Amino acid sequence: MSAPLAVSGALLEGEAVGLRCEQGRIVALGPEVTPKPGDETIEAEGAPLVAPLVNGHTHAAMTLFRGYGGDLPLMRWLREKIWPVEAKLEAEDVYWGTRLACAEMIRTGTTRFWDMYWHPGATARAVRDAGLRATIGGPLFDVEGGTEEMKATAIANLDELAGHAPQVGAALAPHAIYTVSEALLRWTAETAAERGVAVHIHLSETEDEVRECLERHGLRPAAYLDRLGMLGERTVLAHGVWLDESELELIAERGATVVANPVANMKLAVGGVLPYPAARRAGVRVGLGTDGAGSNDSLDLLSDLKVFALSQRHAARDATAIPAQEAWAIATGARAPLLRATAPAELHRILPPAGGEVDAVREGGAADFLLLRPGSYELGVGELYSDLVYAASGSIVDTTVVGGRVLMRGGVVPGLEEIVARAAERSRRLGIC
Ligand SMILES: [Zn+2]
Repeated sequence: MSAPLAVSGALLEGEAVGLRCEQGRIVALGPEVTPKPGDETIEAEGAPLVAPLVNGHTHAAMTLFRGYGGDLPLMRWLREKIWPVEAKLEAEDVYWGTRLACAEMIRTGTTRFWDMYWHPGATARAVRDAGLRATIGGPLFDVEGGTEEMKATAIANLDELAGHAPQVGAALAPHAIYTVSEALLRWTAETAAERGVAVHIHLSETEDEVRECLERHGLRPAAYLDRLGMLGERTVLAHGVWLDESELELIAERGATVVANPVANMKLAVGGVLPYPAARRAGVRVGLGTDGAGSNDSLDLLSDLKVFALSQRHAARDATAIPAQEAWAIATGARAPLLRATAPAELHRILPPAGGEVDAVREGGAADFLLLRPGSYELGVGELYSDLVYAASGSIVDTTVVGGRVLMRGGVVPGLEEIVARAAERSRRLGIC
């Protein structure tokens, strides 16, 4: 356990405050709080103190494929580039790809993420070594058979991931409704309920997916998942671009979370964005994600937040479609408390009954927070949340703290050079560069 950490001279909602952390939690926060002897100290010098960002949908190790086949359409990109190299993936590739992703997330203010990728045990090791938090699931696919083997692998993955708690939470991650059989989806719902783990799935990303679902099952994607028992308070649905109002109402009623991935949607040219105003009207819990670096290609969630807000205003032809503070709340997981939870016990504690907001930087809360660069051109003038959404990018983050541990100070992520070199080596091994 590291020494207690004390921050002085930070700005919280415009007020100068001090903060002390012990054993991973914020034990004191306010204008009168000062360091105690023996504390590790940070002089914040007027740096804004804010909640960290939560990336609700990633395939972290795909940093290894950054820029690879990036100008191809989706199916050619997958068939000609991604699937052939993924067939050669080893656990060490995933470990170093994820370490690279974690370094980028620490640099740009993300402290939790929801991941779906091969060798999830290697992802978990990387997350722990980096000092971050994540909910991780190995992808489930059985479009060409192998359902029983997939179940056995999924159970083995859950057991392995359980050994990495509490920093790492476990999820079952069926890839999508068009790559996973009805039987395996039902099994996923039952097993997730039995084990108290989360479910993470891509849903309603393309119009073709909706059309095929209607043809095969006579239902739209969210209604189909609901019939299989897959929609609940521990379910994360990535994308949701083509959800209609009836689906959004159903998702809200079940308490599931939808994660918007606007940059990946635009890069893969799916032709739309999550209908956020309708989702809000329905009361859906909404988060923000980058998707994998293979299809984004950045993990800087603050940059994606600007795209999210702009695309919503643009699509709605309404400049009032999403206020900046609301956009910020979405990026920090305040509108989807599930995204901030890791352990199953935490899931029950943190979920408010009606999906209200949870204030992240508070006395008694986890000691996870950011200090932003004071006196910067992006934040020096204007209203903080508006500046954060529209003027800043992840480079505005000066200090990243998780569980009272300082993971970055002064914009420097320790060990970055080695991480980049090792990831580049693994990428070369796979024949990427
Ligand atoms: Zn994805």
